[in-house]
Amino acid sequence: MPTETAYRARWVFPTASEPLADATIIVTDGLLTDVTTHDIPEAEDLGSVAILPGLVNAHVHLEFSGLDRPIEPSLPFTDWIRAVIRSRQSEESREASLAKGIEEVIQTHTTAVGEIATSPLSAHLLDKSNISGVVFQEMIGISKEIAREKIGLVSDMLTTYQPNRADLKIGLSPHAPYSVHPDLLREIIRQSRAHQSPLAMHLAENRAERELIGTCAGEFRSFLEVMNLWPGDVWAEMRTINDYLRMLAEADSALIIHGNDLRSDEIDYLATQPKLSVVYCPRTHAYFQHPPHPLPQLLEAGINVALGTDGRSSNPDLNLWREVLHIRKTFPQIPPPEILKLATTNGTRALELPSDGLTIDQPARWSSVPLASQSSETDPWRLLFG
Ligand SMILES: [Zn+2]
Repeated sequence: MPTETAYRARWVFPTASEPLADATIIVTDGLLTDVTTHDIPEAEDLGSVAILPGLVNAHVHLEFSGLDRPIEPSLPFTDWIRAVIRSRQSEESREASLAKGIEEVIQTHTTAVGEIATSPLSAHLLDKSNISGVVFQEMIGISKEIAREKIGLVSDMLTTYQPNRADLKIGLSPHAPYSVHPDLLREIIRQSRAHQSPLAMHLAENRAERELIGTCAGEFRSFLEVMNLWPGDVWAEMRTINDYLRMLAEADSALIIHGNDLRSDEIDYLATQPKLSVVYCPRTHAYFQHPPHPLPQLLEAGINVALGTDGRSSNPDLNLWREVLHIRKTFPQIPPPEILKLATTNGTRALELPSDGLTIDQPARWSSVPLASQSSETDPWRLLFG
């Protein structure tokens, strides 16, 4: 006997059609089988909410979920990194933080994540939950010696644990240009292709990163020297952000995390690479007081942009819907349906999930967000974004 469940909401926003008022979704054995405005008496009435395609948080570090507030100071950026390194946790407290993060993701109606993992626990705990997405195993190693050591581990990082689900995958995260030796990055990309595994790399995050790879100077050089990690000039073949983008384009697929400092020639290149997505983390971007994000230019160029909260180390919570509302305020010129896509279907594409949320005959992945119950607003988009 198939199991059928039905949920009614004030508005339903199917993935690829116009919003429907007072509508019901019907889910049969996990598949979306109908979205209807007919009365279904046995449907569970969710009240004044909008049912949306599942919210996707394409960039998060769940291990920081035990924090009550972001790590300080936010500036200079390298001081923040130093504070993050100092806050390293024991394996026991990491497990509690990950569990708390997963709970917060569920409570805030997020259905999929792009998790950056520094421990095998992330994959185990996410596999036990019903959250979809990709667990990107983080790789760091800027010195030649450490990079050589890590190169031997790349394949194992991808194959040691394989979830038994089509909607949860293992990928790799070469951390950032200032923390990953180009030789290690090359091997990660080779393995990404060999195993058809996705990558996520923090890139074009700020001007100091561009200064480091271009001229071996600036804030990151001092940081690496003080940490006794200065590798010498290892960026000889990687002088520009475009060099990194070209390399990442060789991977099976890759997320460019942040892209705060992407410039027009880099945006032009990204527009030619459909396997590369950019993940914008709006409130984390604001926390570090970066210049305005090039989101409008990225969208104009047709680049797939998804959203992330980043970790609680730079954001007060993991509520992806708050990122959406932040964008609505920061970029009022972006049409509401486009903003909703950033949080839903663009994330689905970035993480290559097997379902785009609310499409008939696909696995149902849906979220609900509250609508102002007293409001008589009849335009669903105005009602959705308050
Ligand atoms: Zn991050």
